[in-house]
Amino acid sequence: MIVETNIDELKKRENSLKIIKGIIHSRGRNQLYDLTGLSGGFLLKKEDLNLLETYVGPALFEDQLQLIGKKHLGGEKILGVNRTSSGILATIMALVRPDSYVIHYLPQLPSHPSIPRSTKLIGANYLEFDNLKDFYIPDNTSLIVITGSTMDHQVITIEEFKEIIKITKSRNNHNPLDKYSQTYDEIPVMVDDASGARLRTIIYNQPSAIELGADLVVTSTDKLMDGPRGGLMAGNKNLINKIKSKAHQFGLEAQPPMVAGMVRGLENFNPENLLKSLEKKQKLLEYLNRNFNGFELTPTGIMITPEALKSEIENRGIKILLSDNDISFTWAMILLREYGLVTIPSVGMPGASATLRFDLAASDAKNLKLSNLVEIINSSFEALLNVVDNPEKCQEIIFN
Ligand SMILES: *Cc1c(COP(=O)(O)O)cnc(C)c1O
Repeated sequence: MIVETNIDELKKRENSLKIIKGIIHSRGRNQLYDLTGLSGGFLLKKEDLNLLETYVGPALFEDQLQLIGKKHLGGEKILGVNRTSSGILATIMALVRPDSYVIHYLPQLPSHPSIPRSTKLIGANYLEFDNLKDFYIPDNTSLIVITGSTMDHQVITIEEFKEIIKITKSRNNHNPLDKYSQTYDEIPVMVDDASGARLRTIIYNQPSAIELGADLVVTSTDKLMDGPRGGLMAGNKNLINKIKSKAHQFGLEAQPPMVAGMVRGLENFNPENLLKSLEKKQKLLEYLNRNFNGFELTPTGIMITPEALKSEIENRGIKILLSDNDISFTWAMILLREYGLVTIPSVGMPGASATLRFDLAASDAKNLKLSNLVEIINSSFEALLNVVDNPEKCQEIIFN
């Protein structure tokens, strides 16, 4: 394997950032097309800049975040955190006892790594389910996590969501008060709605996580909206207070510039962009189907999994020596270097999905004609075919 460890992933990412810098300097920002759907927007106003101080900023922006965050997510109290992963870590540190269980339900594996990793870090046990048939809540469970929409944008059905809430609540009602613990609490439900807070509600017309009965929800202000890479949490006031206190102790809370960016991103959020991407993705898939079998629709664009990509290449009679993920990484790096197209497999954090996603709700998608995008995908795929049977060459493409 070429990309095997977290360190390899880091090296790949650093290489991608170097390429991006090169493109910005030589060809300009408008020759880069960020189709990750993670724009990291920072829509600050001029007058905001004077207020980004350690104690002045929070007095103003945190208050605004309470109001606009509740409008977006519901809940009694809002907490801004450094990333969605930070919110998940703070929640698990605040609410999960060592040796107890964290139970995770998601529409399709794999889970975002932050949930099992945070659980492991505090010495608790982790179980994950992607179907209701197997789902159960063992004794000594501290926290239920529901993922509303996965990294690959697989969205939970409303029936599954309601069922997990129902099972948890009935369990809470029947649980006898624990005589040995003076701090017995009901098992809270946290929803990882990183992209789901917008995907589920706007594209799938589902209610918000809080409306569906969750106690806590966390979303990424970077996903399907123009905010910074940050986490926005909402929910039950007592729980949020506990989590907030942990977040402060371990430096996981969002700093004033981030909070300001979140506020402005939420103010600018317009569901219209998401809805427009629905028409475009259908057309794009039709064009690509002339040449490929493996592309699928996502809620806001198209994608091809590493496994489908491998079949695509094998169908052309080419022998493959790379792992499925490495093929995907190689293609992503070709797309970036030759065409300025930014996708998650090239720039993602360690553990991010290797699926190649082209997000048409991304703001750069407006600057790229569909016919050009089809042309880029077709010719970069030809370039991939030329190198895919040569692992050394692929390694060079990925790391430098
Ligand atoms: C993106 C994502 C996360 C983590 O977001 P970060 O900003 O990387 O911390 C967690 N869970 C899911 C389902 C995600 O899609």
